[in-house]
Amino acid sequence: MKQSVKLIVGNWKMNGAAGGLEQARLLAEALKDQPTANQVVLCPPATLLERIGSAVAGSPIQIGAQDCRAEPSGAFTGCVSAELASEAGAAFVILGHSERRAGFSESDELVAAKARAALAAGLTPIICVGETLEQRDAGQAADIVERQVRASVPDQARTAAFAVSYEPVWAIGTGRTPTLDQIAEIHAVVRRVLAERFGSAGETAPILYGGSVNPKNAADILHVEGVGGALVGGASLKADDFLAIIRAA
Ligand code: PEP
Repeated sequence: MKQSVKLIVGNWKMNGAAGGLEQARLLAEALKDQPTANQVVLCPPATLLERIGSAVAGSPIQIGAQDCRAEPSGAFTGCVSAELASEAGAAFVILGHSERRAGFSESDELVAAKARAALAAGLTPIICVGETLEQRDAGQAADIVERQVRASVPDQARTAAFAVSYEPVWAIGTGRTPTLDQIAEIHAVVRRVLAERFGSAGETAPILYGGSVNPKNAADILHVEGVGGALVGGASLKADDFLAIIRAA
């Protein structure tokens, strides 16, 4: 299914200290001058949520967090709950990013618990899935992604807004991307599982692609059958590059 309004999400990761506010302001001004039909979300580090939110106020840009804790509050030093992220201005939250799955040993079950917390706090979770290079080379990409979608997207998603982002681990920050056919194939797997589990909600939830999207490859990727948007890391840090991706959709 072709989705005409694309969801374009910038994941700043642990960046944005120097010049982040200015880049957000530039992006907001450009989108105010020349609006887009697409939905645009910036996910800065938690410490910048409020300031970036203020910097883009009055523009169509929405704000998202990069993670949240599954618990609503408590003795979890260094963590941010979904409620705290929401209070700081987030409307979205990225969950299960491969950097968290690998670096913080996050399981599908934990990602699902975080997604439940996000939904309870009124956030739209963007749940990331994707195979490693070893898994792709072993011909397991579709099976791995299917398993992750089944276990990481909670049942509660049936009645709430959510998105899934297909992010092959080997394509993140590497400059390498799958072929357009490979992207289409995995998106079809994600759509099949979502539709099977959630009916019409699963047929319409956006399925993004993430992994080395840049101004040059964005148009091709965003026009692949089934691709409902992009999760963009490196290229979201510069307003000009991110804007070019938004305009390519
Ligand atoms: C990401 O962090 O989700 C990502 C896709 O990064 P990059 O665009 O830099 O590959």
